[in-house]
Amino acid sequence: MNPPAPSPTERPSVSSTPARVTAVDTYDIRFPTSRELDGSDAMNPDPDYSAAYVVLRTDAADGYEGHGFTFTIGRGNEVQVAAIEALRGHVVGRSVDELCADPGTLNRDLIGDSQLRWLGPEKGVMHMAIGAVVNAVWDLAAKRADKPLWRLLAEADPEWLVAQIDFRYLTDALTPEEALDILRRGREGADERVAQLLATGYPAYTTSAGWLGYDDEKLTRLAVAAVADGFRQIKLKVGADLADDIRRCRVARQVVGPGIRMAIDANQRWGVDEAIRWTKALAEFDPYWIEEPTSPDDILGHAAIRTAVAPVKVATGEHVQNRVVFKQLLQAGALDVVQIDAARVGGVNENLAILLLAAKFGVPVCPHAGGVGLCELVQHLSMFDYVAVTGTTENRVIEYVDHLHDHFLDPVVIREGHYQAPTGPGFSAAMRPESIARYTFPDGAFWAEDLADDTRKKGQAA
Ligand SMILES: [Mg+2]
Repeated sequence: MNPPAPSPTERPSVSSTPARVTAVDTYDIRFPTSRELDGSDAMNPDPDYSAAYVVLRTDAADGYEGHGFTFTIGRGNEVQVAAIEALRGHVVGRSVDELCADPGTLNRDLIGDSQLRWLGPEKGVMHMAIGAVVNAVWDLAAKRADKPLWRLLAEADPEWLVAQIDFRYLTDALTPEEALDILRRGREGADERVAQLLATGYPAYTTSAGWLGYDDEKLTRLAVAAVADGFRQIKLKVGADLADDIRRCRVARQVVGPGIRMAIDANQRWGVDEAIRWTKALAEFDPYWIEEPTSPDDILGHAAIRTAVAPVKVATGEHVQNRVVFKQLLQAGALDVVQIDAARVGGVNENLAILLLAAKFGVPVCPHAGGVGLCELVQHLSMFDYVAVTGTTENRVIEYVDHLHDHFLDPVVIREGHYQAPTGPGFSAAMRPESIARYTFPDGAFWAEDLADDTRKKGQAA
């Protein structure tokens, strides 16, 4: 399997023959992050951060490719890749102009495949595969428009944006007319907000200090560094052992002082009653929010937890499978913070719906990021939200995790605790060809050596 060539950055030329999508190439890319306990939490002690990665190739003269991916944490990435491949027939042969002018049609066609739909519907591996493909189309569309995705969305006609959304199952909470109203109001003052965004960026918080596998010395060192780097919020993983959590929260609170927000994240570790007890036991350290206290499907459970642990806020979303569950979480008053994920749901189109739902209900969106490439993607959605939907960054922060960015051609830039607005065209999704080649599983150079090593060691032990 050959890695894709990096996309050219020059302006596309106009071709006289209608261009088509010629290939949907997939890659199983895995990084050995479990060896340093980066990313470790109560539910996921040893993740190998991975991407089921897709490249749409076309015969257009401009040479642009659409890159997209979904994030997994190792084993099963091959299943995710197979799901993307199952969508290939819907994409190859499509007109590039039509695809980029209206990604919503492809989105509906993929969701509407009646046989594949049985595997969801609109949830899990198949839906994440749809997200990867749809996001690749948006990457291609933004490159062809010569704009970063956040700007393409922020400058788009509100009617067109509304037409990109599948309102089936939503209209009892948000109608197309209401969405249009929100987007029209969002145009007021948008130019000033673009200038503001380009000058200062979008606020971030960091999770890099708080992985569960880190000892107190590393936690202290990284928390001190986070505050010195300008972050106003950090996050700690909790939920494995209460005595440890009390000690780690005490250490972190002492280190950062009372003026820095400290969120805690249980990664779905608890049942409802346990979530309430455990969160209350940590309340003395003034946690700002408790993230994923229980199953992402348990809407009423989140509502009960929220009532019981206030004023600690309840946040969830990185495993919320679609707009319908977000709708119910909002309708039930079950959360204070909506945590969209750029690569969990069915791509940009569905995230537009979720951003507008959150705006309608007045709940701030603080995206889940980290992973591999999730920071690169989701910054575009928050920046669009600021410029053209809610018009504010108050009480809004994008998660930031300081690893694996160097594998991307257009990596995120953090300055003074803020994401700097990307200016290059596209969705910042493209990984470096040499990284793809090295970390493709199991045949890339890294894994081939690693697996050969393993075999040798087993041979010596036998
Ligand atoms: Mg989390």
